[in-house]
Amino acid sequence: MFHRLSLRFVIISFVTIVMVCMTLIHMIVGYQVTRKSIIQNTLHMNEAYAAKLALVTDSLLRSSQHTLLITARQLAEHMDDKFFLDSELKNLIRMNNTFHSLLVADTNGRILRTVPYAGMKGEQSLAKEMNSVLQEEEPYISQPFQSIQGKMFIFISIPITDLNGKRVGVVGGTINLQEPNFLYQVLGQHFYKDGSFVYVVDNQGHLIYHPKVEILGEDVSSNTAVKKILKGESGSQRVIHNGGIDVLTGYATVPVNGWGVISQTPTEIALKPTWTLLKEMILTQLPFFVCLLLLSWWISNQIYRPLRRLSVYASHLLNGNSATRIPEVPYFYKELKELHDIMTHHLRRRVDHLIYEAQTDQLTGLINRRTMHKQMELWVEQGISFSLVLLDIDFFKKINDTYGHQMGDHVLQFLAHLMKEEVRAGDLCCRLGGEEFIILLPKTDLVGARNFAERLRDRLENSPSPTGVPITVSIGLAAYPQSAASIDLLLVAADEALYRAKNQGRNQTVM
Ligand code: GH3
Ligand code: MG
Ligand code: MG
Repeated sequence: MFHRLSLRFVIISFVTIVMVCMTLIHMIVGYQVTRKSIIQNTLHMNEAYAAKLALVTDSLLRSSQHTLLITARQLAEHMDDKFFLDSELKNLIRMNNTFHSLLVADTNGRILRTVPYAGMKGEQSLAKEMNSVLQEEEPYISQPFQSIQGKMFIFISIPITDLNGKRVGVVGGTINLQEPNFLYQVLGQHFYKDGSFVYVVDNQGHLIYHPKVEILGEDVSSNTAVKKILKGESGSQRVIHNGGIDVLTGYATVPVNGWGVISQTPTEIALKPTWTLLKEMILTQLPFFVCLLLLSWWISNQIYRPLRRLSVYASHLLNGNSATRIPEVPYFYKELKELHDIMTHHLRRRVDHLIYEAQTDQLTGLINRRTMHKQMELWVEQGISFSLVLLDIDFFKKINDTYGHQMGDHVLQFLAHLMKEEVRAGDLCCRLGGEEFIILLPKTDLVGARNFAERLRDRLENSPSPTGVPITVSIGLAAYPQSAASIDLLLVAADEALYRAKNQGRNQTVM
């Protein structure tokens, strides 16, 4: 099956298959690596975001405590001056947009002043709930709690001590978790994009902030990330919830009160860009792919063309066209040079030799009967007239018998040599076999042939042969198309003429 495919096709197919496999491997590996790195990045991002939010929350709460501490120092010596207490609290609430309400209580937990004024329904009852808290001797941050109107608050308080270090009361403030203030700006306002969001839990695992307002206050302490926060840990983790929701979470705790901030992204959404990245990767590879194909096409041509030229050259050689120009082949690879050398030197010489052997007579070097026949056919085909000189050595048997076979051979070579000397360029000398020869004289009629034959016969008669004495020949002449219409008839005619020459006493030419 493969012997029908061209080398170029095989090479290009091979390169294409290799490249497609490489691209597939690239895609599989790229997909895995991209997924892993996106997951890692998202986890880190969420962790960093949660940590940042926790840190800011921590410093906000601490700065609120600090604000109350400064106020507490100013109030310490004026606990009996209701106007002073009033104006200080009013100033603070005006200057600082963190607190929703402020109060001052004595050591028994009795409320001395509230701002906004006591008597406002909600605030009054709020203060009542705080009674136990007002006894606190340390800086204090409460759990989130709901007011009667259902709003979420926290309460921050600082003990008031006089110059002697004696505790004389408490100053505290509430912060509304749902109304615009510093804390809300940090924790309550978050982008909610593609299912990514932030939520906050208190140190009991209850939701304080969540994009779904209706589930605020819910206990989520069974959540994997929340569990870690309740243990005081920060970090990141891929969490698969019972409902099959797969999320990448980062979580961090707020040191000052143990709250937890959780930033999470659904894994599926985080991984969405993977395919886009892969597609981009493949599109980026495409030009290289095309370049490689072109390159392989070029290389396959470099390999294929010289081989093709050599094979054409070889078939010319085998057809006997040894005159064919040796193909110019760039030595692109070692085997090609070897093949080229073999073809153009060894094979060429061998084929030339075989062709020479097939065309010529070994003893005399003249062309043989087959070659002569082909030449005559060619001339007949081309309409070229010619004469045929058939000659036979007289009493050759006697030479063999007298001087030996070897001497006979020398005489044959001597005659061949002489014939070649006498003919013109374009004439052909041929040994038919034994001591019979033919000389073909193209574009020569019987008269011309006769002159030539007589000249040759005359010269032989007067030249000593290798035996020391001259040999004589009998000659039969025929001409095409004068004597016969075909080659066979021409040969018969010449043969008859020769026969007559022998019969009439040898050493003569007969037409
Ligand atoms: P004729 O004048 O009638 O031609 O007599 P002839 O002796 O020349 O003719 P014949 O055909 O009787 O003898 C030819 C001889 O040529 C017979 C053979 O031994 C010899 N002969 C044929 N081929 C060769 C050859 O290649 N070398 C040698 N030395 N002798 C050959
Ligand atoms: Mg003979
Ligand atoms: Mg003879």
